[in-house]
Formats: sequence, C-alpha cells, structure tokens
Amino acid sequence: MGERGLLIVLSGPSGVGKGTVRKAIFDKYKNDFDYSVSMTTRKKRTGEREGVDYFFRTREEFEALIETGGLLEYAEYVGNYYGTPLEYVNQTLNNGKDVFLEIEVQGALKVRKRMPEGIFIFLAPPDLDELKSRIIGRGTDSMDVIEERMEKAVEELKLIEYYDYVVQNDTVENAARKIRNIIESEHLKVSRNLNTYKKIIKELE
Ligand code: 5GP
Repeated sequence: MGERGLLIVLSGPSGVGKGTVRKAIFDKYKNDFDYSVSMTTRKKRTGEREGVDYFFRTREEFEALIETGGLLEYAEYVGNYYGTPLEYVNQTLNNGKDVFLEIEVQGALKVRKRMPEGIFIFLAPPDLDELKSRIIGRGTDSMDVIEERMEKAVEELKLIEYYDYVVQNDTVENAARKIRNIIESEHLKVSRNLNTYKKIIKELE
C-alpha cells in the first residue's frame, strides 16, 4: 500500500477570508488534493449547491451523526452546526490522496488533537497595524464594544501557536499561492520520501 495522503487544515479568525482563499485555490489551480465538503445546519445561500458547498442537514440529522461518531470534528458557529464527515476524510487519506479542510478555529483545534500529523495553516488578517487601529480607532464605538472586539481578536490571534504555518491574507492570489507552496514543500520533506528512496537504494545495492 502507498503512503497515506496529507491532511491540510486551513483555518483562522472569523471574517479573515478563509472561504474566498479556499475557493481561489480550487478555482484557479488544478490540484491533486480533494476538498472535504462540510456538513451544516445553516440555510443554503443563493447559488450554493448540496454536496458541493455543503451537505445541508437538519439539526436532528446533524445531532444523529454526532451521536454515531460520524464527524471528525464539529463546532457551533453563530447558532448553526458545522462539521467534517469522518468517513470521507479517512477513505481519501487511505487512498493516498490529500484532503483539504477549511474550518473555523474551534474545529481546527479538535482536529489538531485527533490528527496531529495534519498540516495546520493559520490565515491571518492582512494587516496587523490596520487591525489594531480598526479595533481601537472607531471613534463612534463605546468602550464596551471596543473592549469586546479587542478581546475576541486577541483570543483568536493567540490560537496561532497551535498551527504550523501562518499566511497573511494580503491578497487572495498571494495567500492561495503561498498555501499551494506549503503543500508542495510538505510533500518534498525527506521524511515523506524516505521509504521510496530506501527501496531504490536497496535495489541498487
Ligand atoms: P459560512 O456559513 O460562512 O459558510 O461558514 C462559517 C464558518 O464555518 C467559516 O469560518 C467556515 O470556515 C466554518 N466552517 C465551514 N465548514 C466547517 C466545518 O466542517 N467545521 C467547522 N468547525 N467549521 C466549518
């Protein structure tokens, strides 16, 4: 049997543009990795397709899958469930193909625990100075609102330490290219190629 595929997890703070970058990666490049379509209980948006953008399910159906252990991870986000179907991920990895997840941070932390061998990429806000002034600097907001926003942003940024790579989303094109480069480099690691080379060396010896 060949090598198991790589699990690639793209995550990061809410509103940072994960979905847009993920779409750019899949629209613009011919990839040799598969996107894991998530399951959600949120309503379908115009233009979204069942089985392509999400598997749209009721809360009952989603909770049944939680019960039976059918999800690699799940999280509740703004009142809806989002989760990663486990079987697809396992099957694809076992077939030697890479799987790409795009999920929010709580889910990513759960995956890190269950599959620490994955590659975890943190998509960061485009401009940290801008972020700071945006949080502090809107003259119209009350201190409470500013503090709440600040706390959330700081909490989200702190999670960076659980990741392997950080990519600033300065432009969608740059971020997508960097993420593809990361995946390519991961495949070139000696540790992932050692068996192949050992076999060749043995044959030649
Ligand atoms: P949206 O409703 O805008 O499509 O997605 C909302 C958030 O849910 C985004 O941050 C997206 O990355 C995240 N998300 C999408 N699928 C999953 C999933 O399977 N698991 C988790 N934990 N988050 C997800």
